[in-house]
Order: sequence, then structure tokens, then C-alpha cells
Amino acid sequence: MLTTNENRRADSISDLARESYRGITLYAAAGGRCDVDLSDNTNLWGAPPAALRALATVGVTEVARYPGAYEPALAKALADYAGVSPDMIACGCGSDDVLDSAIRAFAEPGETLCLPDPSFSMIPVFARTNGLRPVAIPLTRWLDADVDAMLGTRARIIYLCSPNNPTGGAFSRRAVEQIVDRAPGLVIIDQAYVEFGGDNFTDLVVSGRPVLLTRTMSKAFGLAGLRVGYGIGSPELIAEVLKARGPYKVSSLGERASIAALDSDRAWVSEHVEEAVANRTRFRAELATRGIGSLESSANFVLIPVNDCAASSQKLERAGICARPLRGLGGIGDAMRVAIGPWDLMQRCLDALVGEEATVLAPTSGEGA
Ligand code: PMP
Repeated sequence: MLTTNENRRADSISDLARESYRGITLYAAAGGRCDVDLSDNTNLWGAPPAALRALATVGVTEVARYPGAYEPALAKALADYAGVSPDMIACGCGSDDVLDSAIRAFAEPGETLCLPDPSFSMIPVFARTNGLRPVAIPLTRWLDADVDAMLGTRARIIYLCSPNNPTGGAFSRRAVEQIVDRAPGLVIIDQAYVEFGGDNFTDLVVSGRPVLLTRTMSKAFGLAGLRVGYGIGSPELIAEVLKARGPYKVSSLGERASIAALDSDRAWVSEHVEEAVANRTRFRAELATRGIGSLESSANFVLIPVNDCAASSQKLERAGICARPLRGLGGIGDAMRVAIGPWDLMQRCLDALVGEEATVLAPTSGEGA
């Protein structure tokens, strides 16, 4: 028998644990069991050579001692890349950490966070672990953010994701601007996939409205294993995010490799972004010639609506390929999310998908697109 600090007797650890966490389960990654892992939208060409060289010369001090509590040198390199000043950058252990910290910094427990549906699956979890109530608003039929419905929630935080995971499409500038202009609280624009398409939105940060852009070194920059992400906002807003984040969240290795990639390997990154974009177009065209529909994408992945994602997943796994199965997505139904990489991997995926039939073809252009 366990005892809580209010002398209430609890029968188990789960009785003692925070009640509002009961429905939260651990994140289940889809990859790892296959030859070709197309499940996590990382850089399938590898990592920037300058980052690997920087890691090979790491010294004892960088391993044995703490890194800096915050990361001014990395903030400077990221600021130069993003075209803003260093005090407008907050780094974190992946952009997950920046998102989590920002949610904590800008809403009290009990308040509301509004997000589009479908969108990044971790956001409702971050909302709940910070004591917030997530309210999901369906995307419009054009897969854009529903401006009036989102604003109608009067949420303390509105989360947008452009290009959106898992649909892949970019939200329209008009929808994003209207939300930023009229939102009562913080607007977060998650841009984990910004290098692959969609609007840059950096101008909104200097508009005087409370806007935070979140970006990452995990996707185009090929450094997912090092866990480095960042946010861009006004200096006042960034100071609040860092307060909620706390010290020592970026490792010396992550900082060193990221700076090397930003200083010396931007050409490597753009070359592979261009190849990903070309392969994305070619992959969708090849799917179409096989009678398989897919959603227009501005990211380094493509969403394919299917009849039964468990069956599609098994079919791919038999061919040694992992993609991300998504069950019952709002307005879409079951779907497979496939990361884009070098063409030989995409060809293997195409060969394995033969006979797959798309259920719904979502509109790919039109009003608000
Ligand atoms: N936002 C979106 C939309 C994502 O898809 C991901 C990763 N899948 C993240 C944020 C988090 O990425 P990271 O923590 O690696 O920066």
C-alpha cells in the first residue's frame, strides 16, 4: 500500500501518478524493423559531412564537462541562417523541446490549445502533459487551417503546422495571416519541413504579434540523432520560452555538429532538398500511373490514402520497407505516410505498393489552397 502526501492511501503507482496523465501512452515509432525505413521523414541521404568531421574531433572536455547552460554560438549560426538576430532564437533538444517549452511558457494549466486535425500527433500530448486542454479543429476540405473555427475556440495557444504533418500540404498565407492577426494568444507555426516547401513566415515574427516559428536540424539538416531544434520569435517571447525550457538542453556534440553544418554544409543540405523535391514529384507521378492517389506535398514525405493501413503496412514490411501507418485520419481515413529519399528506395516502395488502391483522393487545388 502506498501513501500520498495528503495521507490518501493509494493501491498502485498508477493511483499515485498524475490523474490527467492516465490516457497518455508512450510514443510508438513505426520504423526500426526493416531494411528501408521510410517512417520518420529524416534525411535519407545521411548527415552533412562537415558535421561528421566535427564530431570526429570532439575532445574530452566536451564529453566530460557540461555544455553551456544556453547556446549563444549555435543561436548565432541559426540566426545567420534564418536572417534574424541571435536574441530571436531559442534552441532545444529537438523542436519537440521548443514546442513543449513554449506551450508551458504561454498557458496556465486548464487553458486551451487549439490545433488542426489531422496534424502533428505529439501536440495533444504536449498540451496534456502541461495541463492544457487540446481542441482539434478539422482542416477545411482544401486541407487548409479553418480560420474561423480555430479563432472561435478563443484558445490561449493556436498551433499551426506548415507544411503540415501528416498531410504534407502547406497552409495558405491568407489563413495563417488571419489567424496571426486575430488570435487572442500565442500562435505557434511548426515549420519542421520548411526547407522542402511552403511559406517561410519569418516576416510574421517581426509583425509585433506573438508568433513563434519552430524549426529543426532533424529533417533537411540530417542531424535527427543529435536532437537539435530551435524557435524563432521576438526577443521578449524567446526569453519566456528559454525560461520554461531550462538550462543544459542541447549537448556539446549537438551544438558543435549543428554549427559545422550551418557554417560549411548549407550547399550539401540544399542539394539533397532539391533531390527530395524532385523525387517527391516523380514518386507521386509514378504512383498515379499505377492508379494510386496521393496528397500534394510541400514536405519530404507523401501521404497515400488506403483502405486499410494495417494491411498496407504488412504488405510493405514483407518487402522490407517501413512507412508510417495512420488509422482513420479526419477527412481522409486510413493512410500511409512515406518519406522521400534516394530514388532506389522510392522504386522499392513503388514495386511493393503495386495493387494498392487509394480510397479517397483529397482535393489538391482550389479555393484557399
Ligand atoms: N514537428 C513536426 C511537424 C514533426 O513532424 C516533428 C518530428 N517528426 C517534430 C516537430 C519534432 O522534430 P524534432 O524534435 O526532431 O525537431
